Amino acid sequence: MTDTPTHCPYCALQCGMSLVDDGAEAPAAGGAGGANGVGGANGVHGGARSLPPRTVPLRVVPREDVPANRGGLCQKGWTSTEMLAVPDRLTSPLMRASRDAPLEPVTWDRALDRIVSEITRVQGAHGPDAVAVFGGGGLTNEKAYQLGKFARIALRTSQIDYNGRFCMSSAAAASGRAFGMDRGLPGPITDLGRAGAILLAGGNVAETMPPFMRHLTDAQKAGGALIVVDPRRTATARQANLHLQPTPGTDLALANGLLHLAIVEGLLDEAYLAARTSGFEAVRRVVNAYMPERVERITGVPVPYMREAVRLLARGERSYVLTARGTEQHARGTDMVTAFINLALALGLPGREGSGYGCLTGQGNGQGGREHGQKADQLPGYRKIDDPEARAHVAAVWGVDPADLPGPGRSAYELLSALGTDGGPKAMLLFGSNPVVSAPRASQVEERLDALDFLAVADFVPSETARRADVVLPTAQWAEEGGTMTNLEGRVLRRKRAQRPPEGVRTDLEILAVLADRLHAPGTWSEEPAEVFEELREASAGGLADYSGITYERIEKEGGVFWPCPSEEHPGTPRPFLDRFATPDGRARMTPVEHGGAAEDVDADYPVYLTTGRVLAQYQSGAQTRRVRPLAEAAPEAFVELHPDLAGRLGIAEGADVRVASRRGAATVRARLSDAIRHDTVFIPFHWAGEGRANLLTNPALDPMSRMPEFKVCAVRLEPLGSP
Ligand code: SF4
Repeated sequence: MTDTPTHCPYCALQCGMSLVDDGAEAPAAGGAGGANGVGGANGVHGGARSLPPRTVPLRVVPREDVPANRGGLCQKGWTSTEMLAVPDRLTSPLMRASRDAPLEPVTWDRALDRIVSEITRVQGAHGPDAVAVFGGGGLTNEKAYQLGKFARIALRTSQIDYNGRFCMSSAAAASGRAFGMDRGLPGPITDLGRAGAILLAGGNVAETMPPFMRHLTDAQKAGGALIVVDPRRTATARQANLHLQPTPGTDLALANGLLHLAIVEGLLDEAYLAARTSGFEAVRRVVNAYMPERVERITGVPVPYMREAVRLLARGERSYVLTARGTEQHARGTDMVTAFINLALALGLPGREGSGYGCLTGQGNGQGGREHGQKADQLPGYRKIDDPEARAHVAAVWGVDPADLPGPGRSAYELLSALGTDGGPKAMLLFGSNPVVSAPRASQVEERLDALDFLAVADFVPSETARRADVVLPTAQWAEEGGTMTNLEGRVLRRKRAQRPPEGVRTDLEILAVLADRLHAPGTWSEEPAEVFEELREASAGGLADYSGITYERIEKEGGVFWPCPSEEHPGTPRPFLDRFATPDGRARMTPVEHGGAAEDVDADYPVYLTTGRVLAQYQSGAQTRRVRPLAEAAPEAFVELHPDLAGRLGIAEGADVRVASRRGAATVRARLSDAIRHDTVFIPFHWAGEGRANLLTNPALDPMSRMPEFKVCAVRLEPLGSP
């Protein structure tokens, strides 16, 4: 029996678990015989992968020693090893001879030859930027780093971005503007349990990361208050001491209104404002106009609720303001988050032990994935790609001339929208993402993918995006390879290999190394995560996200290390900003922001707000969790949640099929009636493909700073399609 301590493959809480191998081995699901539905023998990489894959999944045992989950796991974590042997696991490269031909199994050599020849042809005809790269927030730090490096020096393209742009980029932009740096929670997660009050805006952690609730419960048991801001009375809101239920798209007005009340009631921390911030007077002038009655009219939140929220938040020093996707995924998301940061700063919370502002990252490596260079405007170490000093440092590590590094490229949605257009990329390599389901205005994304000359996708299952590719490369999964992840605390953790990948499968690092070799790329291209991490340490040294003092051994010994960590003697930084913020003058910058409403408001044609989100048993685009039987049984299909009053007005019964239409498309989903949602708003989770796809409806209006699309609000109309 072996026991491998590691972390869950899914969300940013990165719950600790051990994978226990009881010794049972058997022929593989998805292995020989074509269980992935495409048939045929696999191209095999080398002869070393001789251990047969398993049908008896590794046993999951939650770890008590990991503070994030302390022995807890959600249903996704408990069933995570089933993902390793799903029936349609890819175990052979697939290729189609022409756009209309089916995907057929081919050898690795043929698949890689095709990718290299298409890259060479497209770049020869149209230049380096004609090839794009799209990454993912679930990739390990090592992969995110290597993918950014591959784009910049193997392909010499500026056209790289990743799906984390759709996740928390507005919080990153707002934190960068206010604090000079963006790093998830303001301290260890266990600090939350001592809080006097926690305001959580736009997050439903009871469903998205259930073990996180333990920390909120700890605070409540010790007399602290939980205040939840959400248009739905979610499972998290039901546990709250106070629930504010604003109209979608009005969070900024609410936050400004709370700050207005804090001023009126004399709750500001004036000494802190004077010593540690700049810009408050400009903010005060703006929020003066956010009179409580006006804010109630805009948001629908009663004045007494707002007054109670701000009193709870200000009653002690140990309070937190936390934001998540509900506040961030807006066309004004950066300003919305800024309004909440202003509130936290006015109350003197950030930069003190046991209080502050924090963003709850969503994807498994939502934090680390954005630090090491797969973002269009960044180089490793959270460096700006247009900063000459940053370029010189990273170019020296990579062994290239800084002048040869491309500049900033398009952001994720802009990149997807430009595919196959005049002046846009003609080919794309995609790793760890499924934008056909997860990107806004999904039908247009499908059109753009189909307009490409060439698409290659690396994945372990035939996702909806992989099915549109010309070449699909089968990749290893989380328990089959090593690496590091950075969780929502900013703590760097080790993910360990517990079993070999199936025959015919390669890791992303192996794929990048062999492609770099065939493209005659400069630099070194290790397939070993530990060696890539050593290079990442060097490349990040001196940057904001400085990992140079973090080693695999330290992570192991210390149970994770917080960045920044500039030397091996440095203890890491669990609580940044205690002495100064990462701005030039060390002060947090307060920026006045005005409510502008959603990019698309309701009207006579589309009279209902749509908001999207997640459910307990599914994760992100569902490409993984929809394949895990217990999760698929628990949450089998898309639905629209609507208030019984709205349903009554529209003649919609519980369980009936409903056509939901926006200006961008229509989805068909089953009605689920609930008085937990506002009368003017409906909710559709975004995990499913096909006609129930929520992102057929969403509005890709982009935030001007973060380039985040407005997933969280658009206008729709509903029509019943028949009886249940
Ligand atoms: Fe995994 Fe669930 Fe923990 Fe997230 S909350 S890391 S999905 S077990």
